[in-house]
Amino acid sequence: MCEVTGQGYGFINIKHGELYKMLASTYSLTENQSWVSESNRVSQISLSHKTLSQSQPGSSTLTTEILTAVCRAIESYLSQSEKYEYIGEKDHNENPMSSYPLGTISLHWSSHGTSVWLRIGAPICTTDIDLSFAVENMSLTHRRCVMVGEKGVTCFVCIDRAAHWTESLIHQGLQDDTNTRTLSTNHHHLFLTLKYIKHLIETNLKIKTISSSYSYKMLLHQHQRGCQNENVGQCFEDIVNRFYTYEKQNIDTIETNTYTTHWLKEIPDINYPKRMIKLYNFVDCAALLWIMQHVKHTTETSWWNMLLNEDLKPEDIKEGHMLYSLLDILQQVDAFGDNIVLKKGSVLDVEWLHEDNTKTIYRWIKNWDSDLDSDSLYTQDSDYE
Ligand SMILES: [Zn+2]
Ligand SMILES: [Zn+2]
Repeated sequence: MCEVTGQGYGFINIKHGELYKMLASTYSLTENQSWVSESNRVSQISLSHKTLSQSQPGSSTLTTEILTAVCRAIESYLSQSEKYEYIGEKDHNENPMSSYPLGTISLHWSSHGTSVWLRIGAPICTTDIDLSFAVENMSLTHRRCVMVGEKGVTCFVCIDRAAHWTESLIHQGLQDDTNTRTLSTNHHHLFLTLKYIKHLIETNLKIKTISSSYSYKMLLHQHQRGCQNENVGQCFEDIVNRFYTYEKQNIDTIETNTYTTHWLKEIPDINYPKRMIKLYNFVDCAALLWIMQHVKHTTETSWWNMLLNEDLKPEDIKEGHMLYSLLDILQQVDAFGDNIVLKKGSVLDVEWLHEDNTKTIYRWIKNWDSDLDSDSLYTQDSDYE
């Protein structure tokens, strides 16, 4: 039995035939062995997500490495295209705000989750496109498909780990609010808001975040299941509260609200409950707490306009300005998360005294050992959006 059974992965077998010939001419296919038992046999292109049976003789397993061939095909198309000015492979992380002339296009040097990452000078602005490729067997699946990518599958049972394709559901955008697989309009707006805040943290405050937009979507789905709120502000609070345990005390007549986080929670994928999505939202969730508490406990709002200013740089935020305390906590959280010398149990404590004489304490208690390979915390996430 494959180790990731039930976690939303599929295998693709290609039977000998026209499609096989076409693929084999440009891409090396691994011929399946004949020792596989009769009960494991599947035919045609199989997207078996229940049994995860992997092979049959007379067919080949298609691995996710085909994404490399797809990238080369895109590159070759773009180089020959008269419609676009292809400027080659770039590191899109290097200069995220660069502006491209109309029609100019570049390809990111590596794949991005399950996607090929393009940047293009479009009529109104320069925009990034995540282009994902999926295979769907219409006769066997219902709105399910498997996507290219996701190299981080941990499975020691299957011979070729690259044979695991990430299964996903094809969404058709916004639908009615009763559909449990689709976010309601309010929740969709909240989803976009969370993504926008993440974007502002990166572009204006220049602090890198590693959360995935898919994890936000899953958080909102979890929230939506029990949501009876009448206004979206309560939904926002609910999402923020999910990152923390909360305690309210009166210390020296000051109402003190303490939010404690241990980081690295996991939430189940709404579509594949056995697939756990790790939340790497530690910088973002500190920002969300700061925003929530400052909106609730102060009347000052000038910080919001300043934060939205596209030309804002961290050095423009002077000590004493309200936004400085946001920048300060995010820099502290970022440094705390990166500090591998700190022992398990180390605490980061930051407090804010608000205009209405209440106090908020942000507390992060480190819950992993420093000798744990910190890189392993970062390798399994993907943004299959
Ligand atoms: Zn496996
Ligand atoms: Zn809600």
